[in-house]
Amino acid sequence: MCQIARIPGRRAYSLKLSVVVPTRNRREVLIRRTLPAMFSQDMPAEEFEIVVVVDGSTDGTGKVLRELSAPFSLQIIEQANRGPGAARNAGIRAAKGDVVLFIDDDILCGPGLFCQHVEAHNNQLPSVAYGRLSMAPEAPPSALRFANEAWFEQYYARIESQKGLKLPQSDYLISNSSMPRATLLECGGFDETMTAKEDYELGLRLWKMGLRFVYLPGAKAYEYFQKPIRYVLRKDGNAFGETDVLLSRKHPEYRPYSALAGLGRIARWKILWRRMFAALPFNPVGVLNFPLWICDRLCRFQFVRRVSRSLLGAGRSVTEFRGAVRQIGSWRLLEREFGARLPALLYHNVGPEREGTMRGLTVSPERFERHVRWLARRGYKGICPSDWLRWRKEGRGLPEKPVLITFDDGYEDLGEHALPVLRRYGFGGVVYVATKLLGETNEWDEDRGWGTMRLMTADQIRFWATEGIEFGAHSRTHADLTSLGSEELTEEVAGSARDLESLLGTRIVSFAYPYGFYSQNVVECVRSEFDLAFIADDDDEGLNDLRTDPHLLLRTMVQSDDSLLALECRARWGRYPLLQLWDRVRIRVALRTRLKRAAGVMTTRRH
Ligand SMILES: [Zn+2]
Repeated sequence: MCQIARIPGRRAYSLKLSVVVPTRNRREVLIRRTLPAMFSQDMPAEEFEIVVVVDGSTDGTGKVLRELSAPFSLQIIEQANRGPGAARNAGIRAAKGDVVLFIDDDILCGPGLFCQHVEAHNNQLPSVAYGRLSMAPEAPPSALRFANEAWFEQYYARIESQKGLKLPQSDYLISNSSMPRATLLECGGFDETMTAKEDYELGLRLWKMGLRFVYLPGAKAYEYFQKPIRYVLRKDGNAFGETDVLLSRKHPEYRPYSALAGLGRIARWKILWRRMFAALPFNPVGVLNFPLWICDRLCRFQFVRRVSRSLLGAGRSVTEFRGAVRQIGSWRLLEREFGARLPALLYHNVGPEREGTMRGLTVSPERFERHVRWLARRGYKGICPSDWLRWRKEGRGLPEKPVLITFDDGYEDLGEHALPVLRRYGFGGVVYVATKLLGETNEWDEDRGWGTMRLMTADQIRFWATEGIEFGAHSRTHADLTSLGSEELTEEVAGSARDLESLLGTRIVSFAYPYGFYSQNVVECVRSEFDLAFIADDDDEGLNDLRTDPHLLLRTMVQSDDSLLALECRARWGRYPLLQLWDRVRIRVALRTRLKRAAGVMTTRRH
C-alpha cells in the first residue's frame, strides 16, 4: 500500500482520485482487461473511484457494468454518443475526487500508477502529471500496432531528451494524465466541438494558464491496441484534418506546428498531387487497403513494418488534407490560410551612385522603378512586416502574391527615389534605421574607409510612416551586436525599440540585425523586444513561410546590377541561383589557378 500525505484541510479518508474512463463499444477489453488492471492497484479502495462514461455504446457495455460487483466505488454514466471530449466532461462533472486521472478504455494501468499520480499532486501548485504509454505486449500484432509502437518510442525519447513536454510544439496525450479537478472546472474542461486532438487542445489551454507539466516515467500504462487500419486512415485522418484548421484558428501558437503549415515548404509538384487527391469525389486511400492487408499478415518482418509506416503516412496525409479542405471550403483558401510564401527583398540605398561608397550598396532610381513595375505587373503586392505578423497569427489578410521590400540603414535618398515609387504602385515596405544616428551619416561605414551618405531625419520618418511605409529598428548605432556584452546589447536592442516608439507613437514590430550578424544571445534579446526580425546572409536566402522562425526571417540581397531575370528568381525562390552558381564557378577557377601555381612551384623545385 502506498503512503499518501493528506491534503491539508481535508477530512480524513477524503476521496483523492477519480479515474475517468470514456468508452464506446469496447465492452470486452474494458471488462476483461482495463477494469481488472485497476482492481489490482495498491491504493486503499476508499481513496479512489472509477467513473466510466458509456458514450452511446450499442454492445451492452452499460448493462454488464451495472451487473459488475467492483471492490471500489464505481460510477456508471450513460449518454448518447457525443465523442470522447463530451464523455470526459460528463465524467469530470460527476467526479468527487480532488484529482482526476484520465484512462482510455483500452489502456491497462501498470502497478502503482494511481499512487504515483496522487503523490505528484500532493502539496504542490496545480500541475498536470503524465505517465508513459506503450503498447501492451499481448495486443494482437498488426502493421498499425507496430507503427504506433514506433511513434510512442520516438515521442517519449524526445520528452526524455528535452527534459519534459514542450508545448505547443509537442503533442499532448490525455490518457495516463492527471490534474486537479478544480483546475478542470475552472478552464471549462474539454472543447466538445473538436472531433480529434481534444486532449492537445486542453493541454494548450492548461499550458497558457501557466500549469507545470510533470513527467512520471514510472507511471506506466499499456495500450491494448485493436483499431482497424481502415478506421484510422479514413475517420481519424479526416477528423485530424478538420481539427487542424479549428485548432490553428483557436490557438495561433499552434499554426506553425500544424501539419498544414508544411504547405508553404513542400515542393510544388507534391502540392499538385495533394491538391488532385483532395479534389477527387472519393477517398483514394482505398487503394492502400490491399497492400496494407498484406503488410498486416507479414508484420513480423522489420522491413514490412517500415513499408507499412510509409504507406500509412502517405494515406494519412491525403485524408488529412481532404478533411482540412472540407473544413475550410476549397484548396485555394487552404493555401491562402496556411501555405503563403514570402520573398523579402533587401535593398540598401536607391539613388545616384556616390563617390567612394561600397559597390553594390546603391541601386539606381531607374532600375528600382523597373523592379517595382515588374513586380506589380506580375501580380505581386508589396506588404509590410505587420501584415506578415497578422497572417502568421490569424491566417488572414495577405494578398495572393505578397512581396516584402526592405531597406537597411535608412539613407536619405530613399525619401526622394524609392519611397515615392512604392507609394505610386500602392506597395508597402519597411525601412530599418539606426535610431541614434537619424539625420546624421553612415559613420559605421566611414570608419571602414567607405564614402559618406546622409541618413533619414526624424521628420522624414514621421512623414513616411503616415504614407504606408513601416519603420523597424536596426539597433541604435549599427553596432555588431555579436561583439557586445549583455548590458550594451540590451541598450542597442531595447533602446532602439524605445527610440522609434517614442518617435512614431506606436509599437515597433520588426528588427533587422546590423551587418546581418547574430548569435543565440542576440536572437534571444531581439525576441524579447520584437515580434519579427530579419537576417541578411548570402548563404542563407530563401522564402519565408509559416514554419520559418519569426526572428530569423530570410531576405535576398538585391544587387545594384540585378536584371529582371534576377529579380524574378528572387521573387520566386527567394534567391538568385545563377549568381550563386557564377560565384561557385569563380571560386573553382580561382582554386584551380592556385593549385596549378602550387603544382608549378613544386615542379620547378624538383628541377
Ligand atoms: Zn545595415
